[in-house]
Amino acid sequence: MFRHSSVRLLRLHTLKLSNPIYKTAQLHTSTFRMSNNNTNEPYPVSKSELEWRVQLSPEQYRVLRQKGTERPGSGEYNHFSGTGVYNCAACDTPLYKSDAKFDSGCGWPAFYEAIPGAIRIFEDKSGGMVRTEMVCNNCGGHLGHVFKGEGFKTPTDERHCVNSVSLKFVGNEDKKL
Ligand SMILES: [Zn+2]
Repeated sequence: MFRHSSVRLLRLHTLKLSNPIYKTAQLHTSTFRMSNNNTNEPYPVSKSELEWRVQLSPEQYRVLRQKGTERPGSGEYNHFSGTGVYNCAACDTPLYKSDAKFDSGCGWPAFYEAIPGAIRIFEDKSGGMVRTEMVCNNCGGHLGHVFKGEGFKTPTDERHCVNSVSLKFVGNEDKKL
């Protein structure tokens, strides 16, 4: 009798060592972590943890640098509907346009797409589940998770569930001189 219950496929995520810059610049550092991110490129903005602690508020540091999650329903952008752009709270890179924001009812700001090239995704197996983590492609700051195929009536059927504390809204009015 074939038993299914304990059969689980484990994938060994091997390190891509073909990029010589990555090999010399990143492999020997203590901050290196093995993961199956979709690129091995270093982040353009790289700061020490001390520098991030000085720059960010304790809650921003907990979420952006330690992959924390703000309490559902607590974020300032959860029900916010201003017109403009949401930048990374750590490095000021534009991440999401307000046009892509929708009310998912999940307790966090939700977007159906990011600005092209703005985010980087990882497979996240923490917490006993497999999710897709999103980080800022410029500084590596943790943003939240992306979920697909949930049936939301949006152009992509994706829900980018983002912590408000990882974002900084810049309204169109604010950008006028
Ligand atoms: Zn950033």
